[in-house]
Amino acid sequence: MTEPSDLRIDPHLGTLVHVVGTRQARPNLPDTGCPFCPGGREAPEPYDVRWFPNRWPAMPGERCEVVLYTQQHDATFASLGVAGARRVIDLWASRTEALGARSDVDSVLVFENRGPEVGATIAHPHGQIYAYDHIPDRPRRLLEAHWSPDPDPADRLVAEHGNWLASVPYASTFPLALSIAPRRQVPDLMALDDGARDELATILTDVLGRLDRLYDRPLPYMLWLNQRPTDGGDWPQSWLNIELVSPWRSAGVPRYIAAAEVACGEYFNPVIPEVLAEQLRALSSH
Ligand SMILES: [Zn+2]
Repeated sequence: MTEPSDLRIDPHLGTLVHVVGTRQARPNLPDTGCPFCPGGREAPEPYDVRWFPNRWPAMPGERCEVVLYTQQHDATFASLGVAGARRVIDLWASRTEALGARSDVDSVLVFENRGPEVGATIAHPHGQIYAYDHIPDRPRRLLEAHWSPDPDPADRLVAEHGNWLASVPYASTFPLALSIAPRRQVPDLMALDDGARDELATILTDVLGRLDRLYDRPLPYMLWLNQRPTDGGDWPQSWLNIELVSPWRSAGVPRYIAAAEVACGEYFNPVIPEVLAEQLRALSSH
């Protein structure tokens, strides 16, 4: 007998582990064309953006969704342009709102794994959403620390558009990392007005374009949004922000998180944040 998901807690460290045996059965690569292209298994009709329940969910209870950014198979986030990125942001916001409205959803995580190097099984531009029935540990710790953007990133600043800043974090555990956030506090995607969504679309297409030009090839990355929990609490300190990390320390060269780091939870980063920011600033925005 197998449960779809078995949530266990490490008895010593308290780490939550979802044991999800069913995900071993998911295909690495579909055998009949791209399922996300129009006419494919998950997208029967033409579309601009689209969402659907994940066929191989990591958690039971309709908590895992897939978001398609465009019907263009070879697009990148940057190539969506501001109007295309805006459609993705609007869909992120509407799915966050719909999932967050459920009484059994306390936290909605919008994220993207891009590239086979970080486990994306399908190349077609897409992201995912997980709706948790609790507030996971890391977002909770960020809230409890009253996370807010660095008011003066100085030589770690990468780009600015309107109210939004992109900078390299002071002390990232990954060799390549970016933080994207509004200067003035906004709790979540739903609170962004039209102008703010366009500014977010502008800074996302700008910096993701720079990241793909940094090594003259598509950068593998993980991207996620931190936003206000949907558990009914006030969370007045919640400050919407986007984190992006890549395992590459140079073109095509991954930096593995290795034994000493896994063992001790302390990290060794070979990339100097100020140097990375300088490289990204030097790349044009288009
Ligand atoms: Zn496709």
